Amino acid sequence: MEQTQEIQFKTPDVQERAKLLHSRCIDIMADMYQWAVDNSLSFTITATVSNWLEDRVLGRVSSSHRERRAFDLSIHGWTDENIREFTNHFNFKYYDEAAISGETGKPTLVLCHDNGHGRHIHVQIHKRYAFTTHS
Ligand SMILES: [Zn+2]
Repeated sequence: MEQTQEIQFKTPDVQERAKLLHSRCIDIMADMYQWAVDNSLSFTITATVSNWLEDRVLGRVSSSHRERRAFDLSIHGWTDENIREFTNHFNFKYYDEAAISGETGKPTLVLCHDNGHGRHIHVQIHKRYAFTTHS
């Protein structure tokens, strides 16, 4: 399995918009990247900050991307076991900073889902970190 030497971004636009993320997202992304390196897994960020119109087109129910407190991670090459370990590790580690799941009402930093555009990992920090001046 190939090992990436740096964080990969799906497109230059996704990378550019990563600069708009809350700094806690950047810190957590770096921590997650280190985990991926330690586990010889690829690490590709597929989405970062969005706007209201893009969310509507994608049918996103969560406002977290446009509030600059979420990013998506590709699970390409990851096994179900990798995903489970990753989810457990980071949901525990960042319990106090995690977004509250609308479904379970529990702090949930990481969730692996398919919202109609392919299965991926969604990472979201708490709404108190939301950027709320809407563009
Ligand atoms: Zn997402």
